Amino acid sequence: MLNGLALLAHGRLCAEYGAPFPFFSDKDPLSELISALLSHRTKNADSHRAYQQLRATFPTWEAVRDAPTLDVQRALSACTWPEQKAPRIQAVLREISTRCGTDAPCALDFLAELPIPEARAWLESLPGVGPKTSAATLLFSCLRRPAMPVDSHHHRVAQRLGLIGPKVSENAAHKLLAALLPPDWDAQQVYDHHEAFMYHGQKCCYFHRPACERCVLLDVCPTGQAGLKT
Ligand code: SF4
Repeated sequence: MLNGLALLAHGRLCAEYGAPFPFFSDKDPLSELISALLSHRTKNADSHRAYQQLRATFPTWEAVRDAPTLDVQRALSACTWPEQKAPRIQAVLREISTRCGTDAPCALDFLAELPIPEARAWLESLPGVGPKTSAATLLFSCLRRPAMPVDSHHHRVAQRLGLIGPKVSENAAHKLLAALLPPDWDAQQVYDHHEAFMYHGQKCCYFHRPACERCVLLDVCPTGQAGLKT
């Protein structure tokens, strides 16, 4: 039953916001991972500027890994918490080098060959990498693997629709919401699902005062229906 609701919401939201949505990035997976780490609790424009500055300052990811942390921190000054993100990114790069061999280039292209659960587990065992970052690395990068990230907008809409319980965290929501989707969906379908839910959270199902009266999901949404009765 929840699968049916998820698919119905997918169809309506994709029509409302104009899917299929173009992918916004074709970075290699390591660059996408670093970009995702920079985006934590940071506005997109600021994390983008910090990423560009980092790439302009250091010619390679190995150079970022081996640089004095203060230099990396300075290059990240456009984003929030550079003093935490600089050592975190270097720790991630060092860990990747330890696992893949220090003579090998710092890269994650091999994740294309792993089954998605294994690729996600590999990424999520890196410091500071959770399910949203692992899914973003696999889906948004040029790998285009069908792994679904759940951001705060997506999470809120799913909760209000009753697709997940009110106490399910954003991290825990990843497995539950992915299980509601057809297992044979390709990357574009998974991406459209995530983007459509995210747009809905940004443009209608606001954190404060959701605009239920103009919502295309009002007739199937228990939160919206409850609001009509008050
Ligand atoms: S009806 Fe209201 S609470 Fe439900 S999804 Fe729409 S905007 Fe959100």
